[in-house]
Amino acid sequence: MAGCAAAKELIKAGREVVIFEAAAGLGGRARSWHRSEIEPSVGINLWFTSFYKLMFERIREYGLEDQLVEMSNNVIVVDKGKPAELLSDSMRSLLTYPHVGLRDRIGFLTGTLKETVKRKQLDIFDPVALAPFDDGTTAAQYARKSLSQRGFDNLLRPEIESFWLWRCEDISAAHVRAMQAQVAGAKFYVFRNGMEVIAERNAEGADIRLEHEVTELQVDDGRVHITARSADGETRSEEFDDVVVATTASVAAKLTAALPNDLVGRDTREFLETQVYEPALSVSYLVDFSSMPSEAHIVAAGADDPPVKTIITFPRTVRDEKGKPVDKHLAFVYPGRAQTRRLLTLSPEEQYAETKRLVTELWPDFPADAEPFEIASRPQAMPLPAPGRYRMSARVIGLQHAPVVFAGDYFTSPISEAAMLSGIRAAEKLTQTG
Ligand SMILES: Cc1cc2nc3c(=O)[nH]c(=O)nc-3n(C[C@H](O)[C@H](O)[C@H](O)COP(=O)(O)OP(=O)(O)OC[C@H]3O[C@@H](n4cnc5c(N)ncnc54)[C@H](O)[C@@H]3O)c2cc1C
Repeated sequence: MAGCAAAKELIKAGREVVIFEAAAGLGGRARSWHRSEIEPSVGINLWFTSFYKLMFERIREYGLEDQLVEMSNNVIVVDKGKPAELLSDSMRSLLTYPHVGLRDRIGFLTGTLKETVKRKQLDIFDPVALAPFDDGTTAAQYARKSLSQRGFDNLLRPEIESFWLWRCEDISAAHVRAMQAQVAGAKFYVFRNGMEVIAERNAEGADIRLEHEVTELQVDDGRVHITARSADGETRSEEFDDVVVATTASVAAKLTAALPNDLVGRDTREFLETQVYEPALSVSYLVDFSSMPSEAHIVAAGADDPPVKTIITFPRTVRDEKGKPVDKHLAFVYPGRAQTRRLLTLSPEEQYAETKRLVTELWPDFPADAEPFEIASRPQAMPLPAPGRYRMSARVIGLQHAPVVFAGDYFTSPISEAAMLSGIRAAEKLTQTG
């Protein structure tokens, strides 16, 4: 997402742009899988919300309004087998939420209102704006100022950890405060055919080399030399004026490890090398439509790392043997942190079987005849905004200069909008200096 957003800015500035993409399509972690047996054919379908300003600008610019599907924000928090609704756009749902006491509900509401007033400064997409709020406090410490332990574990924690998979103890309070400031009253959407459409449209006008993995990056006499290996095994080196490295942090660190300090300074290098990612595994099944709640985000409450953290259901249509349409749900199951790490080492057959065994601990009525459908593994899924990380990001952003600049969600928050803005920021560094 960051690389294609950067490409658009550079093309706008009159540059010729080549995109090297290791995968078979654009969009990176925001790219969906597709299967022709389901309608719509898209699998993992990333959400975005009414507060993604750039995304909506691009939707209007590209005339993609008809691709938008509004999702019901049906969050169901399960505490010891008991489900309860918690909707971010409904005050009533918060005030009647049964898993925490009234004092916590009021504490959460007043906390949210307090942060909402600072919405402009608490910009979840802008690490420079967020840096002053990143005072070393963790999200858990922040939450406990206004909530009891139970209030935190059953209210704020499931809202944050089910979307991002990490622990509130490990991330900056600034991230949660920014999320709280933005999310009240927000509407949720997906693209009918997947979010990669935005990356693809952003990249229009660039020379796109799919299945070209960059293996080496050198700078000689101010000229950037990029070596890439194509799918057929051919390796070629080409020369450029400058480059936006828009991979994950660990790949960026590896590719630029041999560059001298005047091109990639010590702070930038250390920043790239120390980013930590939470892995993700989504195991999906086709189930009868009536067997699961629709468009639901079913989430485990509590402080423990559960066997299964989240189930998300999307309606899909399949055809029976006679070609008749049949309504189904595609149920995406996300195991907890420890189980994700364990399951990532197993075969797909074992992943389906094990996940099906574990899922009933979160949702006892998960259908026994659920049909294994597709698995998506992301060993490097979500970069952690650890305490102090936004401060460091802001510093490293200030140090970026041509001919080698970096972009990606690890500077900011693991959100597609933030990744795109990071790409634009990186491109501006190049257009300002040359
Ligand atoms: C499971 C999951 C669910 C998510 N859900 C949401 C959501 O609902 N809403 C939302 O807004 N965001 C969501 N996100 C976050 C969003 O996907 C990311 O923030 C965004 O994709 C990050 O963009 P990026 O450009 O920084 O990195 P990436 O998307 O990872 O792009 C990096 C690109 O670099 C390429 N690459 C890597 N190495 C090389 C190489 N050597 N040579 C050439 N190319 C290379 C990769 O193939 C990839 O295309 C989710 C992420 C995950 C993992």
